[in-house]
Order: sequence, then C-alpha cells, then structure tokens
Amino acid sequence: MDRLADSQNKKRIKIRIHGAVQGVGFRPFVYRMADRYRLTGWVRNNSHGVLIEAEGNHDSIQSFLWSLQSKTPRQAHIQSVKFHYLDPVGYPKFEIIQSVHEKHHSAWILPDIATCTDCLKELFNPKDRRYLYPFINCTQCGPRFSIIERMPYDRVNTSMKSFDMCPECRAEYENPDNRRFHAQPNACPNCGPHMELRSRTRQLLSANKEAVKQAVHAIKAGKIVAVKGLGGFHLMADATNSVTVRRLRKLKHREEKPFALMFPDVASIQSACDITPSEHRWLTAPEAPILLLWKKNLPDSSLAPEIAPDNPCYGAMLPYTPLHHILMKLLNRPVIATSGNISEEPICIENDEAFERLGGIADAFLIHNRPIVRPVDDSVGRLIGQTEMLLRRARGYAPLPILIKTSDPPAAAFGGHLKNTITLSAKNQAIVSQHIGDLETEPAMIHFRRIIKDLQALSSIRPGTILHDMHPDYASTAEALKTDPNAKPVQHHLAHVLSCMLDNEIDPPVLGVSWDGTGYGTDGTIWGGEFIQVNQDKWYRVASLRPFSLVGGEAAIREPRRSALAVLHACFGDKLDASTCPNVAQSFRKDEWNNLVKLLNHRSFSPLTSSIGRLFDVIASMTGILHVNRYEGQAAMLVEYLAWQSNKKADPYSFKLVDTEPHLQIDWEPMIHECLCEINSGARIQNISDRFHWTLVNVILKVAERIGQRRILLSGGCFQNKLLTERVCDTLEKSGYRVYRHQQIPPNDGGISLGQIAAAKYGFV
Ligand code: ZN
Ligand code: ZN
Ligand code: FE
Repeated sequence: MDRLADSQNKKRIKIRIHGAVQGVGFRPFVYRMADRYRLTGWVRNNSHGVLIEAEGNHDSIQSFLWSLQSKTPRQAHIQSVKFHYLDPVGYPKFEIIQSVHEKHHSAWILPDIATCTDCLKELFNPKDRRYLYPFINCTQCGPRFSIIERMPYDRVNTSMKSFDMCPECRAEYENPDNRRFHAQPNACPNCGPHMELRSRTRQLLSANKEAVKQAVHAIKAGKIVAVKGLGGFHLMADATNSVTVRRLRKLKHREEKPFALMFPDVASIQSACDITPSEHRWLTAPEAPILLLWKKNLPDSSLAPEIAPDNPCYGAMLPYTPLHHILMKLLNRPVIATSGNISEEPICIENDEAFERLGGIADAFLIHNRPIVRPVDDSVGRLIGQTEMLLRRARGYAPLPILIKTSDPPAAAFGGHLKNTITLSAKNQAIVSQHIGDLETEPAMIHFRRIIKDLQALSSIRPGTILHDMHPDYASTAEALKTDPNAKPVQHHLAHVLSCMLDNEIDPPVLGVSWDGTGYGTDGTIWGGEFIQVNQDKWYRVASLRPFSLVGGEAAIREPRRSALAVLHACFGDKLDASTCPNVAQSFRKDEWNNLVKLLNHRSFSPLTSSIGRLFDVIASMTGILHVNRYEGQAAMLVEYLAWQSNKKADPYSFKLVDTEPHLQIDWEPMIHECLCEINSGARIQNISDRFHWTLVNVILKVAERIGQRRILLSGGCFQNKLLTERVCDTLEKSGYRVYRHQQIPPNDGGISLGQIAAAKYGFV
C-alpha cells in the first residue's frame, strides 16, 4: 500500500532555466542538488540555458527548485525558471547528458526580469555611481519585452536608442568580462533616462532623486500617484489609509474588486498573509508575479479594510524594478499598486496618455523618459494544492513560447472576449501574447489590434490560418473575419480543454471537464458545464448541465438573481411565488419579478445556458450572498470563500444523471430542493456553499465513472476556484483517476487562443 501511495505521489517536473548558466559549473550543481533530494532524471544545456527533468516526491521537488533559485553558484545567473509537472516516466538515476546542438538558435525575446541581487547591492550602495538610480540593470535583469521595438534585440532596436552611452557605460557594455557586457538597456545617471514628478496639470514639481522622494511624501500624505513602471503605469496609494483607498475606488469606478498590493519585503508580506515555502519561492522569483495569498487570521490591522472587502486573500507582490525598490524602501509600508487605467480599459503606457486618461484620478505623476513600447500587465498566480497556477500570464512570462509539436503552417488565434490573449504559431512553437484584457471598449480594441500586429512583426510569423471563437458576437470574431473571411471557428469549451492538454504535454484520449461562465455552443446555446471527450481524430460533448434560461442574456451574467429565478421557475413552474425562496424574491421589485417570469421562455430574450458559473450565481442569490455582481465572477468567488469557512463535514447534495439524446445530462433539480430546505431552516450559508462544492466534485466523479475515461482534464474559469480544483484533484486521484489541471496557461479565457491553435493541430477546425 505504501509503495502504491509512493508511486502515486511521484511527479516529474520539467524545468527550463534561461540565463547565464553555461560554463559556470551549473550542470554539476544541478546534479548535486538532484542527488541530495534523491531525484532521478537529467540535465542538459540548450540554446537558452539548461533544461532539466527530475522525478521524485513533491516535497523533494520543491526543495530542489528552491535550491536552484537560492543556492545558485556565484557566476551563474538565472533570468527565469519556467516549469510544469508531467506524468512520471520512471528515470532510474540522475545524469548530466550531452548538449544537443539545436539547429535553429532561437533568438526569441525574453520577458522583463525583476532586478537581480547584484544590481540591488549597487543600487543601495552610496559609493556606487548608480546609487539610487532607478534604471540600473545588467544582462541578468531589467526590461526586455517592454522596450524592444523590433528584432534583433540590440540597443538601436529598443526604446533606449535615443540615450547615448557615456564612456563609462560604454566601457562596461563592450567588456566581455563585465556583467553589463551587451546589456542593451545599460545606463547611468549621466547618460540614461531620468525621473520627473509632475502635477496633474503637467507642471514640473521636481526631478531625479528629488522626484522620487517627493512622490513618497505625496503617497504618505494620502495622495494617489501615477507611477510609470516597467510595462505600464500603476496607480499607487498608501494601503494603510482607508480614506485614500475609498477615494481611489470611487475615482477608478471600481466598487469592490480587490486591489493588488506591493509590499516592501517578504517579512512585511508575512505580517499580513500566511505564506508557504512554494509561495515564498514564487514571490521572489525573477518573474515576481502578484500572488493571491491568504490573509492572516489576525491580519496586520494597519491595512485598510477597503483593499479587498469580503475577500480572504490579498493579491501581493514584491518590488520588481529599481524604481519600485527605491520607492518601497522609502515608504516602508505596503501600497496599493493597481493598473493605471479606468475600470477595465487597457493599462496606460505613454506619458501624454497617462495625463489625459488618469488626470482625474492621480494627484501627481511620477514619470520618466524611457518609452514603454508595449503594455505588459503584472502577472497573477495562485497556488493550487502544492503547485503553481497562473491566472494572468503577462510580465515575466510573455512572450516565451510554448512547445506544441506540430508541422502545421503558421496560424494566428484571436482568442475569446474576456481576459483576451492572442496566439501565433509556427515551427513547433506557440507564442501566447501577454494578457490583453476584456474587449469591451474601443480603447481595448485598438490595443488588441496593435498587439496582433506587434506580435507578428516581432516573431516574423505570417499566419496563413486565422482562428477565432465560435461566438458570432465577440469583437475578436468580427476582427478575425475582417482579417480573413475564411477564418475558422473553434468551439470555446473545446479550446479550454485543448489548452490544458498542451499545458500538461499530453495527447488524446482524455475527458475534459470544461466549466466556466459563458461560451457559445455548437447548438447556438450558451455552454459552460461541459464534459468533452477528446479522441485522436474527433471530439464529443459527452455530458452537460441541464440547461436553464439566461433571463435577459447579458443582464443575467451581471445579476445572479436572474439565474436563481430561472432555476426556481424550472423546479416549481407556476407554483413559484415570493415565499418559495424569499432571498431571491426580495431582491426584485414585484413588477421586475413578474416581467422576468413572463420572459423566461422567450428564447430570443432568454437563451438557454448549461453554465456552471451561473449555477454558482444561483447558489449565491438563493442564499442571499449576492444578487448583483459588482465585477465579473464576484458571486462565484464569494461562494468559494464562504465554503472555506464551513464548520462541519459536508455531504454532497443529490443530483441526477439523465441519459438524454445526444448526451448525458446533469440535473440539478434535486440539489435545488435540498438546498432550499436548508436555507428555509436557517442553515449556515458557509455550510451550504461547502456542500455545493462537494456536489460539483461528485458530479465530476460520477460522470467520469459513466464515461470510463481515467485521464481527466480540468479547464475553464471555474477551476480558478482553489477549493473546487483541489477537491476534484484529491477525490478523483484517490479513486484512481489521473487529473490534469492548468499550470503555466490560465484556466480562464486567457488560455482560449492557445486552445484554438491546438484545435487546428488536431484537425478539429
Ligand atoms: Zn542586474
Ligand atoms: Zn552612463
Ligand atoms: Fe471560458
């Protein structure tokens, strides 16, 4: 039994390290670390750095990863560590294998890299000529993707081209023994970019070091400062000042969606959040993403409660540019560092644009004269179980390619509608763009078109095939058809499943669980609770949630109470009245309720949906948690967070699996009745939310049993839900299933474009 448990525990990790790690004893170092943690596998050089595969139990792998990052030999410098977990193959020992001389030395551009420790030492050394200079960098750190205008990556092709290096900088740049040898953004206070602090009317307040100091004073005094960073502007404000946080919410039209925080150091994060060793490693990695971390039980009460209301997590990050390091050292307190935009529009990157668009929000502007060539938002990640999952892939990750094993002609996939990304593919590689965002506004569309052009120019990929979502009303669909009238549609939930297949480097057959809020189905209804069997040459929708009315279409996505009304009406028909579920009834005016009931079965007004996201909405509204979303996915998030606070062992609610044509249907009606009973008898909403989660786990287990497929793949926005994803993985793995979930590619619609490319690869278009 122990041996069985052990073999199930075993994992294989594939690690790609970029950086100066060749010829400095790095492979022997990797070998020693693998030996110490009793891992098997191999290490070899490749054109970017080294590639490692290692097998062992999870804890050993984590310790190994941590050692690679923290015990790196002195002369070696790691620019990025990208890894994901794969099925173990049973390597007998660990070995150093001969380098493979790759024919095409790929000169692909690196992502932006957080400031390295060597540069930090100089930055804070009063004797160094770059003391407190906010643009210090070297070959191992600094801007890359955000400053390159065209390939190849040389200074004349970057936004540093207008800065002539002074003799000292040039000497470093030309000396092969210097750590700034060919560091394209190399600069110093004498020759490089500089800072300015300006008022919202563009009046110059101060420059250089003084500008940074005054910006710090302004933030401490409760002002909102727009700070030009690496891939765009942040709005920064004192996170300990409730009045300021409330003002920022009002000005930014952001009612309740949590704000991200930048902390001065790991210790300050630890005083506000509980962090695991894996999270510690990730926070301090060269990618330096925002991580969703549990607030401490007794949180540091100095943080304003308005930062993340009703939310048990903070989005936290560490400083990742020299400017951030200086600011945070002087501030010595956490600040809000939220994208410099209004509502969901794209992030500002140009000074003029910032004054225009953020002039009504920021009290002052801390700007500089190094142009940002393209917007790159902060990446966002969350630990699921013991391993990483990216929820937004941008700074630090994009545009590193994903390997796809295909010989298809070059293609471009235009992605979905929300959290859009695009993907280009050619020669075994798929390049997923940085997070673009929701395509809801004209500025967003301009941004979207610009990134399509930009990524094509940078990668020299001339796509022959254009792929798009099947939804006829998506702006990305319209754009694809405008580009090529023969562009090919890909079903949304299939794209989710295929993106997860690529993320885990597995091939069909698999059973994909594709659960999200909205996606256009092949039958013209709105899907979102789908089980998709993918075989080598064909895919099938093998099971789905019993559909219900999306009353008023889009409006029902904003208002969870509308889905609740539809589901209750489906259960009770004409017997439904205000007393059936007072929570839902009380959220409507009488005339609203009557009107909506009349419209329930008008298909042009109320399309059918099989969405699990909407089923979360139903629970949220029935229990009275939330009737109207203030931001996308809010109700589902609250239901998850309440479930974490359940105080008793919960059983799943009942549901029925009904054999219908053409596929199995999951009927939620028994669950709704049991749930109503509990609500009406005053059960805790935390426990109801918990039981709802267990019900969903059970649904996946029972459908998997019926379909008889052992390899289960989880994709779609619902699997951003940590509780759901962890429970499904645990429960199914205990029952002998192999469960795959997202790692480097987001489970949400940020992965759709990559899935569209995969659909072409498998011949599903
Ligand atoms: Zn550096
Ligand atoms: Zn210089
Ligand atoms: Fe989706």
